Amino acid sequence: MASQRVLSGVQPTGNLHLGNYLGAIRNWVEGQSQYENFLFIADLHAITAPHDPASLTANTYNLAAVYLACGLDLNHSTIFVQSHVSAHSELMWLLNCVTPLNWLQDMIQFKEKAVKQGENVNTGLLDYPVLMAADILLYQADKVPVGEDQKQHLELTRDIANRFNYLFCRENPVLKLPNPLIRAEGARVMSLTDGTRKMSKSDPSDMSRINLLDTPEQIQNKIKRCKTDSVRGLTFDNSQRPEARNLLTLYTVLSGKTKEEVAAECQDMGWGQFKPLLTETTINALKPIQEKYHAVMDDKGYLESVLRDGREKAQAIASSTLSQVKSAMGYSLPL
Ligand code: ATP
Ligand code: MG
Repeated sequence: MASQRVLSGVQPTGNLHLGNYLGAIRNWVEGQSQYENFLFIADLHAITAPHDPASLTANTYNLAAVYLACGLDLNHSTIFVQSHVSAHSELMWLLNCVTPLNWLQDMIQFKEKAVKQGENVNTGLLDYPVLMAADILLYQADKVPVGEDQKQHLELTRDIANRFNYLFCRENPVLKLPNPLIRAEGARVMSLTDGTRKMSKSDPSDMSRINLLDTPEQIQNKIKRCKTDSVRGLTFDNSQRPEARNLLTLYTVLSGKTKEEVAAECQDMGWGQFKPLLTETTINALKPIQEKYHAVMDDKGYLESVLRDGREKAQAIASSTLSQVKSAMGYSLPL
C-alpha cells in the first residue's frame, strides 16, 4: 500500500526558533519515513503582513537550508517553495469563489492578527485560510500536522473541500478530505520573557526566543537574562511557576532525558545552577544543526538543485489536481 501523504510548511517570516523546531520541524523529521512528505516554504503566506522583498528572498533560502539542516531526508520528503508552483495561487482563486465570506470572518487567527496589524490589514490576511486549503487539497494530502493555532483552518479546509465536491462532483469527488496529524508529545515552547505566552517569530523582542542559528554567546546571554522566579528547587507541575515548567521542559527535550530523570536531577537546584546546565545543553543540541546549515548555505548550487527537484515533483501532482478541479467547474473547452 502506498504511504499516506503528509503536507506541511513554515512561513519564511524571520528567524526560526526552538518552538518552530521542537513543535514542528523535529516532528516531521522523526515521522518522515512512515509517510510521503511534501514540505514547503510558505512564501506566499509570508506577505499577509507588510514585508521587505530582499528579506523575503533571504529568508526563503535560509528556511530551505534549515529544513535540510534539521535532517529532512530527500528519500522521504519533497522540499519546495510555494510560489514556485503556480497552481497554489490558481486553485486559491477557484476556491475563493466557493467559500462564503462569513466563514473567513469567523477565523480566530484573522481576528487576532487583524487587531495586531491595525490599519495594515490586507485582503490576503482574510483570505489566508483559502490559500492554506489550496496548499493542502492540491496534494490530496491524507494528513496535516497541526498545532493548536491551525486546527480551525484545517477544519475550514475540510468544509471547503466538502462544499466543492458537493457542488461540482458529487458522484466522483475530486478533493480528498485531510485529517489532522496530532502528535502527543509535540512540545509547546513558551517565551523566555513570559512563561505564559508562546515563543514566537513575531515577538518584537529577540530576547524572548532562542533562534536555531543563535551563537553560543547569544544563547548564554538569553538564558542568563530570561525570566525566572525566586523559589528554590525546580518543579514542572506548579501552575504558579510557568517559567520553571517551560525551562525544565526545554531541558528535558533537548537533553533527551525523561521527565522523571529531570525532575529528580533538578528538584534541589537553584536557578544559578540550572541555567548554565540548560545553556550547555542547548548549545550542544543546536551545534550539529548549525554546522549542517552552514555547509548547505556554502553550497548554493546544491540547495537550488534540491528546490528545483522539489518543484518538479510538487508541480506534477498539483497540476493534475488543478486540471481535475477546473474540468469539474466547467473549464473544459478544448484548446
Ligand atoms: P508568527 O509569530 O509569525 O505566527 P510563529 O513563530 O508562530 O510565527 P509559524 O510560521 O506561524 O511560526 O509556525 C510554524 C510552525 O511552528 C507551526 O507548525 C507552529 O504550530 C509551530 N510553532 C510556532 N511557535 C511554536 C511554539 N512556541 N511552540 C511549538 N510550536 C510552535
Ligand atoms: Mg504562528
